[in-house]
Amino acid sequence: MYTSVVTGGAGFIGSHLCEYLLSKGERVIAVDNLGSGNMDNVKGMLDDDNFSFIEHDVREPLKIGERVDFFYHLASRASPSDFGRYPIEIMMTNSVGTYNVINVALENKARFLLASTSESYGDPDVSPQPETYWGHVNPVGPRSCYDESKRFAEALTMAFIRRQGLDGRVIRIFNTYGPRMRPDDGRVVPNFITQALSGKPLTVYGDGSQTRSFCYVSDLVRGIYLMMHSNAKGMVVNLGNPDEMTVLELARKIKDMTGSPSEIVFKPLPENDPLQRRPDIARAKALLGWEPEVSLEDGLKRTIAWFRERMNKKGRGP
Ligand code: NAD
Ligand code: UDP
Repeated sequence: MYTSVVTGGAGFIGSHLCEYLLSKGERVIAVDNLGSGNMDNVKGMLDDDNFSFIEHDVREPLKIGERVDFFYHLASRASPSDFGRYPIEIMMTNSVGTYNVINVALENKARFLLASTSESYGDPDVSPQPETYWGHVNPVGPRSCYDESKRFAEALTMAFIRRQGLDGRVIRIFNTYGPRMRPDDGRVVPNFITQALSGKPLTVYGDGSQTRSFCYVSDLVRGIYLMMHSNAKGMVVNLGNPDEMTVLELARKIKDMTGSPSEIVFKPLPENDPLQRRPDIARAKALLGWEPEVSLEDGLKRTIAWFRERMNKKGRGP
């Protein structure tokens, strides 16, 4: 039986990944400091003998206490609204934290997968973005704590692969959504859905003409698993849905799908907000035979249903 560690395992993507690995018959150890994640996300797994949870901050050296085959390194706050509040924590997590996790992976002679981000491309001047594009990042802007520390984490992973024989690989995740995103996360999908369901105005930043491509979480998790189990040592692969739309179109779609009377209002565009983002997934297709299967319509339906149920349970707004 394989044993996998998922750092950030109590977060949105991490908790879905833990469930997926359990369904594949693996033993799973989630490591999380519960900064932006929470125990609600893993409570359904706590009764499973193959699942353990370790509350730990990866900025501190990590000890697992059993042999591990795979390290999925997802620990990092990821919401732009956290970049202003926790910039140093984010930078130290992606630098020192990544260093600490890589070292345990090496001790275990385990495979290591870094969850990097499309933010490595910054505000891209090519579209769609292939892995060969080096990016267009403001190194001192308000998003740089995240962009630059993820870029550092990628560089660190590559250095350990080249110099220490680490069996490492990097994925660049593009905007992913689904159940278990925090209602107050600040990212666009939970914002619009909770606003629409509670009859509050949907807040479009700028004129809403900036684009994103949204991937449903189950598609992403399958891609992460395939990447870990492929012969991809030293490779960097984009994982995301190439179906691109404007933020204003997304607001209209969510308003429609929820049947919400909410109006759409326009707020200032945050500084350095990327104008366009869309993954080139040719490499994921060729290497992993992977492409997204869940349409935006279906994914949003499931996500809206989850937020609706959660809000009904609480008997009040999110
Ligand atoms: P999330 O905030 O739900 O998950 C991150 C998890 O990491 C949380 O549970 C948090 O408590 C934990 N964490 C943060 N710092 C930690 C630390 N120092 N020590 C231990 N645990 C720590 O966000 P998410 O969307 O699930 O993101 C997961 C990963 O995927 C992140 O690395 C993020 O950068 C990457 N990513 C996500 C997206 C997306 O669209 N969701 C896009 C690109 C990249
Ligand atoms: N956005 C928005 N309204 C919101 C939250 C976000 O218009 O309430 C916009 C944001 O400016 C960006 C896009 O939606 O252009 C995606 O933002 P998100 O924070 O989800 O992730 P990003 O892609 O910026 O990392």
